[in-house]
Amino acid sequence: MQIISRATWGAKPWNGTPATVSPSRRTEFFVHYDGGTPVTRTGYAIMRAIEAQHIGQGWSGVGYNFVIDQQGNVYEGRGWDLQGAHCPGHNVTGLGVQFALGGSQEPSAKALAAGRALYEKACKRTGRGLAKKGHKDGIATACPGPRLYAWVKAGMPAGDYKPAPDPGGSVGTDPSLARYQVTINGLKYGYGAKGSHVTLVGKGLVKRGFGSRYTSGPGPTWTDVDTASYAAFQKSLGLSGKAANGVPDKDSLKQLLGSLPAPAKPMPPFPGASYFGTGKRNSHITLLGKQLVKRGFGASYTSGPGPKWSDADRKAVAAFQRSRAELRGDADGIPGPLTWKLLFS
Ligand SMILES: [Zn+2]
Repeated sequence: MQIISRATWGAKPWNGTPATVSPSRRTEFFVHYDGGTPVTRTGYAIMRAIEAQHIGQGWSGVGYNFVIDQQGNVYEGRGWDLQGAHCPGHNVTGLGVQFALGGSQEPSAKALAAGRALYEKACKRTGRGLAKKGHKDGIATACPGPRLYAWVKAGMPAGDYKPAPDPGGSVGTDPSLARYQVTINGLKYGYGAKGSHVTLVGKGLVKRGFGSRYTSGPGPTWTDVDTASYAAFQKSLGLSGKAANGVPDKDSLKQLLGSLPAPAKPMPPFPGASYFGTGKRNSHITLLGKQLVKRGFGASYTSGPGPKWSDADRKAVAAFQRSRAELRGDADGIPGPLTWKLLFS
């Protein structure tokens, strides 16, 4: 187990150096989590966010001795030798270890294994078996949440540790994310939502001047950056409170994009080449013609498109086929499966 140092993750200098605690004074190992909201940050950003929050509270810097992320990385906060700021009355005797997760996020097996390894290292350094505790053992709080607390009470097992089964839900693997999503016109928006429509929102926000938060993207997965950017956009519309929480609503989305994106229609199945050509009449021919017009190959139509095969249909199909390298060798004006696929996708 390697500990990522403060210098590596980019900590600010201590804002007033915390007191030093000798290893012999440590008797407890406290586990924390981030509270009711899932942690969406990863990597060093986790530490910088905690640091900003704790400095904002007037603390010297990150108050936890260590922080563990879902990848099993261990980051240095106060480290082994400095007094923590994580649980009143236990900041000297207790090492405070924060797991970077919240809400109903499952602690990953890697994170728990790292937690166990850190515990063992702590026992070795202090020369005693430290008491295994959750924050709620020191003060009235929900921290570290039911899952981590159950893990603490089970003796912090690792290695063969299996996270509790997911209680179920419709959004990804984390049902708590459903709270952050809305469905508008058949598409999902908000944290964890995926798709080209998410990218579209991000690009719209950038275009409107709300893109400063993006360091990657936008899209296609909705992140907390999208939420923060969208909230800024909502505020610019004069919305406030819950109406400016960064989760889209129909009106603001329409204002941002001009119209509401709709789910992509599934490609109609190719009926077979025998439905097309001189003397044929069916609804597939109408569908084909309309799609050719939609794709900009409708110049040959003086009327229609309609169900009766015409020379205009043949010319339009041939024009589309000539426009695509894959079809150019066979630009006969009769659609085959590949022509169909390229035309409707
Ligand atoms: Zn806590």
